[in-house]
Amino acid sequence: MEVDLHIHTTASDGTSAPQEVVEIAAYYGLRAIAITDHDEVGGITPALLAGRLTGIEVIPGIEINTEYEQREVHILGYFIDYHDPKLLAQLKRLQDARLIRISKIVNALRQLGLPIELTRVRELAGNGSIGRPHIGMAMIEQGYVKSIQEAFHRYIGYGCPAYVPRYKIGPEEAVELILGAKGVPILAHPGLVNRDDLIPKLVKVGLQGLEVYYPEHEPWMVSKYLKLTDKYGLIATGGSDYHGNKANYRADIGTVTVSYQVVDQLKECQRLNLYKV
Ligand SMILES: [Zn+2]
Ligand SMILES: [Zn+2]
Repeated sequence: MEVDLHIHTTASDGTSAPQEVVEIAAYYGLRAIAITDHDEVGGITPALLAGRLTGIEVIPGIEINTEYEQREVHILGYFIDYHDPKLLAQLKRLQDARLIRISKIVNALRQLGLPIELTRVRELAGNGSIGRPHIGMAMIEQGYVKSIQEAFHRYIGYGCPAYVPRYKIGPEEAVELILGAKGVPILAHPGLVNRDDLIPKLVKVGLQGLEVYYPEHEPWMVSKYLKLTDKYGLIATGGSDYHGNKANYRADIGTVTVSYQVVDQLKECQRLNLYKV
């Protein structure tokens, strides 16, 4: 009876619809999954409905993208109240910032003599959250570059001529936002973040776990982060970070799982948080 606590859908940058994700989890015989889209809660309701039909427990979650000293830091939130007005307002701000940034990049490309249409970039993003990969796709269509990687390396990546920074919140703010929405905040893939000095700082503001089990975590990272969960009294979570079969990175649903006990720990943690509020 296993659980995958890190899954993306078409509500953010995944390529599988929420219903599909639940069906795949049912096919693999998982007991529970968490929907954790980037800065977006739109996949939760359809996944909950599909979960009811298939008997899979769906945990409402989120993965908030933040920045800490020029590094991407992702904060997972479990059992969030996905109707919480403060949470929704901040997510809206992050989504709007995404769009503003994309149109600034489109303008910068035009000035470089590489015009692409903003409407086409939006079309390529579909219902999911718009991002630089969609600009790369539009550039490929125009014959400016051969791949998304080339678009990043030559034009839109950090330090390139059409690079535009993005409005981001800090990881502490994301932890507080998740606690405010009655959720349990967890630091995603700490091995990729590689800034362990951040962990005690986040514990101070209410971090309650580390994503110890992750496709790209080497065995030595797993044991290091397990020790840190012991040291700080944190929950050790894990998941596949599934982005879809068509996405050419990361693992399939269920390739990294934890036992159902972790779900019980998250529920207990959430229950105790409610008393604190
Ligand atoms: Zn992440
Ligand atoms: Zn993720």
